[in-house]
Amino acid sequence: MIKKDAYQPEFTLSGSQYMALTVTDTRINGGIEKLKIHKAALDEIEKKWGVDRHVLVAIWGMETNFGTFMGGKNVIRALSTLAYKGRRQKFGRSQLLAALKMLERGYITPDKIMGSWAGALGHTQLIPTNYLKFAVDFDGDGKRDIWDTPVDALASSANYLAKAGWKAGRTWGYEVTLPKGVGTRSAGRRNSRSIKRWQAAGVKRVRGQQFPRSGDRAYLYLPAGRNGPAFLLLDNFRVIMRYNAAHKYAHSVAHLADRFRGAEAFEKPWPDGIRALSEAERFELQKLLIAQGYEIGEVDGVLGSKTRAAIREFEKQSGAKKPDGFPTPAILEKLRAAAN
Ligand code: CA
Repeated sequence: MIKKDAYQPEFTLSGSQYMALTVTDTRINGGIEKLKIHKAALDEIEKKWGVDRHVLVAIWGMETNFGTFMGGKNVIRALSTLAYKGRRQKFGRSQLLAALKMLERGYITPDKIMGSWAGALGHTQLIPTNYLKFAVDFDGDGKRDIWDTPVDALASSANYLAKAGWKAGRTWGYEVTLPKGVGTRSAGRRNSRSIKRWQAAGVKRVRGQQFPRSGDRAYLYLPAGRNGPAFLLLDNFRVIMRYNAAHKYAHSVAHLADRFRGAEAFEKPWPDGIRALSEAERFELQKLLIAQGYEIGEVDGVLGSKTRAAIREFEKQSGAKKPDGFPTPAILEKLRAAAN
């Protein structure tokens, strides 16, 4: 379990890989479905806390795939391990104390306090200290149940983001195009300035869209350097980062939220050509791997560890210098060619 603490995809995957893995058509469609199912509750939640429903559902999708993977660990045990040794001892201790408080106050029973190895709980993976501070009983049954009542979890996260400073009616940022002379040196939070000044420097929104407010402060984010897609990030992006301090994570939440709303993929492709494979492409990839003699288990469109291992083997056999098992359009092309 302590070993697992070191694995965080936000750090090991490139921006393009992370986004391809987290913003898939399956997840986009799943979110659109959830927005319909919980429309009445989300109307009320948005009204009360002012937090964009699309962002809430995107967090739900990112954290647990809409409640599919809430983490099967007993959080008391997981946090005891974290508190005992490793680099997150202090975090582990304070979260363990908070989790014990949750039991003592009867918010949850010992057999039901399940979550991730890092102690994140329920549908939207609130850590125990945040549960104590922000969890709400939205459906009014007397329980702040973020495990079995999705709307309690969504409302609790809305409450958390509202307290963290979410600005109602505003977005997280914009994809932009850069003029000559604006590049990596202008990027980063230290170079935050008003939209007006970015406009004066020649920065424009993609697809001819307008900036709604020129007074907002924003900073330039270049997840793949000067030749990749470029973004101006607003204050609400920092609020999403309160959930997980990685830019890649918040960027996926933000983009997922936009896709739920019907927005297109980024105008500028990632320079390495990596993008999420469609469901049809994922099935095709698996079938082609089997045709090449690889063992991947069931053809289900889910690119799990067996499929990834097979891709790694295929990369090795086609002479790749750094096989990483990552499913890409390029790998699919190679498999198609190999099948002929
Ligand atoms: Ca409740």
